[in-house]
Amino acid sequence: MTKFALPTERSENSVTLDEIIEARRTISGMIRHTPVEPSVSLSKSMGVPVNLKLEHSQLSGSFKFRGASNAVAHLTETERAAGVVGVSTGNHGRGLARACANAGVRCVIAMSELVPQNKIEAIRGEGAEVLIRGRSQDEAQAAVDALVAEGMTMIPPFDHRHIIAGQGTLGLEISEEMPEVETVLVQVSGGGLISGVAAALKARLPHVRIVGISMERGAAMHASLAAGHPVEVTELATLADSLGGGIGLDNCFTFPMVRELVDDLVLLSEAEIANGIRHCYWEERQIVEGSGAVGVGALLAGKITLSGPTMLILSGGNIDMSLHHRVISGEDVDVSQESS
Ligand SMILES: *Cc1c(COP(=O)(O)O)cnc(C)c1O
Repeated sequence: MTKFALPTERSENSVTLDEIIEARRTISGMIRHTPVEPSVSLSKSMGVPVNLKLEHSQLSGSFKFRGASNAVAHLTETERAAGVVGVSTGNHGRGLARACANAGVRCVIAMSELVPQNKIEAIRGEGAEVLIRGRSQDEAQAAVDALVAEGMTMIPPFDHRHIIAGQGTLGLEISEEMPEVETVLVQVSGGGLISGVAAALKARLPHVRIVGISMERGAAMHASLAAGHPVEVTELATLADSLGGGIGLDNCFTFPMVRELVDDLVLLSEAEIANGIRHCYWEERQIVEGSGAVGVGALLAGKITLSGPTMLILSGGNIDMSLHHRVISGEDVDVSQESS
């Protein structure tokens, strides 16, 4: 495990417990309050109570719907009328699309020509318009900039007050569902989820330990913490595809929040992520995507020592079912050798 020094002063670029409580009031009628289940097999093998927060059963298939719902609810009347735009082929795109559809707000998700048809259909299925532009994420971004110039509001996937506060509502639920919790394992990509969850939990249960989990292949937050400032990493194919991408060189909230609130960060190999997916299926009877299963994978790999009650978040379930089938059948899937 890697330890990072904590800065001594509290950062101003931080989301507070009050903002998270306000987010819960805002979105409580929109989101699903997801269940918690004890993991019999992990509790037995780890020797401490281990619970699973079944957030992959959230509407749109991941927790991203919480933050997106909160961000959309905070739009002004003028912004609502002009509509929302986002760049994401994955869970943020789905969550944002669903949140906008619920609120009756126009939503455009921009993506490149290289995005596979099934991902396009998934976003359309949640009710958004898909704008296909260019052959790279950068060209898709240029199309978004043009829409923003015309008055639409861009909602980013993690580095945004209302997004972080919305994801933090998951931390509030955990603090109430397992007040005796000692360790919480949380996925880390851009850091919106862990920032919100850690802010809520550490405000309510100051002694809780927050452990972040990413994949070895392209962990931008880990590299940034090691460098002491946000850095770019090469994006690599991984089974934990929802954890790919950078944290933004102009990161405002999540980098300082993770540096302040997260106790450890653990990285997993592809085989360890696959084991997490398999265990979720065969032992817990849950269909979980690679990113959602990294907490389980980290425990199975013996990468985290537990001293008391523990909560894992199954953060999403949007995995290609034929890929899932191959993984749970025991195939040694190497996504770096395949085109997505
Ligand atoms: C986006 C996502 C994450 C990571 O969330 P960040 O806020 O970007 O750190 C984890 N799991 C799933 C399923 C996701 O979609």
